Amino acid sequence: MRRLRLSIFGAVQGVGFRPFVYRVARELGLKGWVLNGAFGVVVEAEADESVLSAFAQRLIQEKPKAAVIAAVESVWLEPTGFSGFEIRASDRAEKPSAWMLPDLATCPECLAEISDPGQRRHGYAFTNCTLCGPRFTIVTGIPYDRPNTTMSGFPLCPDCRAEYENPADRRFHAQPIACPACGPRLWLEEDGKKTEGNASWAEAASLIRAGKIVAVKGIGGFLLLCDARSSEAVARLRQRKRRNEKPFAVMFPDLDSVREACEVSELEEAWLQDAAAPIVLLRRKPGSGTVAPEAAPGNPQLGAILPYAPLHHLLMRALGFPVIATSGNLSEEPIAKDNPEAQARLKGIADAFLMHDRPIARHADDSIVRASRGRQLVLRRARGFAPLPLRTARELKPVLALGAHLKNTVALGWRRQIVVSQHLGDLETAASLEAFRAAVKDLCRLYGFKPELAACDLHPDYASSRHAESMGLPVVRVQHHHAHVAGLMAEQDIAPPVLGVAWDGLGLGTDGTIWGGEFLVVDEKGFRRFAHLRTFPLPGGDAAIREPRRCALGLLHELGADLGRLEALFPEGWEAARALPKSALLSPRTSSAGRLFDGLASLVGLRQKNSFEGQAAMALEHGVDAAELGAYPVALSAGTPIVADWEPLVRAALEDVDRGAAPGVVSARFHNGLARLILEVARRAGLERVALTGGVFQNAYLSEKAAGLLEEAGFQVFTHQRLPPNDGGISAGQAFVAGLGWHGLEA
Ligand code: ZN
Ligand code: ZN
Ligand code: FE
Repeated sequence: MRRLRLSIFGAVQGVGFRPFVYRVARELGLKGWVLNGAFGVVVEAEADESVLSAFAQRLIQEKPKAAVIAAVESVWLEPTGFSGFEIRASDRAEKPSAWMLPDLATCPECLAEISDPGQRRHGYAFTNCTLCGPRFTIVTGIPYDRPNTTMSGFPLCPDCRAEYENPADRRFHAQPIACPACGPRLWLEEDGKKTEGNASWAEAASLIRAGKIVAVKGIGGFLLLCDARSSEAVARLRQRKRRNEKPFAVMFPDLDSVREACEVSELEEAWLQDAAAPIVLLRRKPGSGTVAPEAAPGNPQLGAILPYAPLHHLLMRALGFPVIATSGNLSEEPIAKDNPEAQARLKGIADAFLMHDRPIARHADDSIVRASRGRQLVLRRARGFAPLPLRTARELKPVLALGAHLKNTVALGWRRQIVVSQHLGDLETAASLEAFRAAVKDLCRLYGFKPELAACDLHPDYASSRHAESMGLPVVRVQHHHAHVAGLMAEQDIAPPVLGVAWDGLGLGTDGTIWGGEFLVVDEKGFRRFAHLRTFPLPGGDAAIREPRRCALGLLHELGADLGRLEALFPEGWEAARALPKSALLSPRTSSAGRLFDGLASLVGLRQKNSFEGQAAMALEHGVDAAELGAYPVALSAGTPIVADWEPLVRAALEDVDRGAAPGVVSARFHNGLARLILEVARRAGLERVALTGGVFQNAYLSEKAAGLLEEAGFQVFTHQRLPPNDGGISAGQAFVAGLGWHGLEA
């Protein structure tokens, strides 16, 4: 038995949708309910998983004629035992906001139109209809109609107006519609040379074919495109973008070409073709040479995406081969979205600019998803998902949550929903701070939202925390790992109390030390630190995030082990390095699980420096020899909080390394040991529900291993689906805690 919650968005109210859902549910013998929410129709139903999947499919395929389904978000939940199927009373009326939709990938009908020489939109890059096209990235105000979008400068021509006003037309009341006579125009700029109209994308295609890098203005910003088959082109892009090894996403011309390069399940195929059109992380087919290794160096996975805007379709059809499609920015800055801005910021990166005159109201990167435990796990929530609200089972006070520091998002919570902003990025540069401030203002304005509370991290120095302080509202501080757990509770309607396993990089704890390997019991009163990993010094503090070798140094120092084996890892100065962990000032103590992974990756010899956050931990995961079932031991202390001591684990790993064991075997025993540790702590806590969250649980092997053990032992296990386990999910957790009036700190 499972429970499925479907949030159905689009023109689905006042068109007989609820009676239709009721009828289908009764036919299938489902238990549950349907209601009209503030944003669309919400359905919850309980049955076998296969029956629920069939139900969801039928709702989309057999929908009432007048209904237009723009987006569906589904979450799999634990069943609660509904007694029948009912149409529930609508949520209390409020300002209708059902029009707030994410950007939708080009629909098959529009695609057919631009491909047909007999149609007036043949080859037109801004073709869209009620079912597809830009939404969130073009809205400038309320109510949602054309003057309040970035299409306001393009008055409809008589042909388009006729479509817009005809209830029988696919473009009836579709705000962003356009055609070559009245809509946005496209041009290509290369060294001061300008090519206009359809010749511009044809020219862009020949530049890409010749190995050049072209910046293409899309839906939520500029993407940088180059030939993904060419090692030379990809290496040049890496060098110019100053991005050494972090994987690039690859846009494929079609599904078949994705299949040539990667393993694709049926589920993943559906996601690639979904209106959200996210980047889907797939396993590469070994030996497939269609994508240069430089696209994702040393990585067994590849982020694949299909064309989602007419311009992409036109370009990709002209090319017929995969291209790198990465955000138009320098390393961790926000994606560039305006023409002059892009030309300034991407100067020296792009050889040419394919641009248009439809302004982008707000930036949105491509979203990233992956399969995890048979469900879709969102790793980055942006274009295609934002601003779809998460429905909460409980009413929230109006709260604005400012998120954390890395992978920042902000969130609005009120009534029974949380709206999470698009991914805003690390709040490290002036550009990302600007994007952060703009997003806060922008979201509040779009929803006419007046927060009564501000929620933020406990860390006083985060820019997000300072922003919360500056708003003149009561501020609720929510401890970082508590927010991780609460985000998952909000997403999946987990009743307290729950044991939250929150493992990540670093977050400030209530005792002033840096946490990151936490087991928190969360209930209405707040949280209790039930257990945590043994702490160790982090030599050089933040520098250790970039250098796994420093984590190894901290671990061995803590154990009083011989440090000699690390000497060769610090050629710049071993004496200074070895003294570092002794300084309490320069080497703060942490219980971080992420840093434990980094340290292990260093000791195994996989990586000594990270060129992006989490790279070493990722290498450790990717190296796992899945056939290895052994597990290193971890010792649990008596007393509270329980200290999970990784000393036996690290010592056993070192013995294996010294014995010449393969890194994949060491890595598997390490992962298996941690999964058993989680089970052991869950047994001690004795709570039925266990929630796995935090950036470490982006690790698919650990998540599946731990969840498997817990489920076998009879626990209910929760892992993320709609919110990222990383810090992108923090704002929703903060909103949930503060909006419910829970305590953000230790009970
Ligand atoms: Zn369409
Ligand atoms: Zn027109
Ligand atoms: Fe975190």
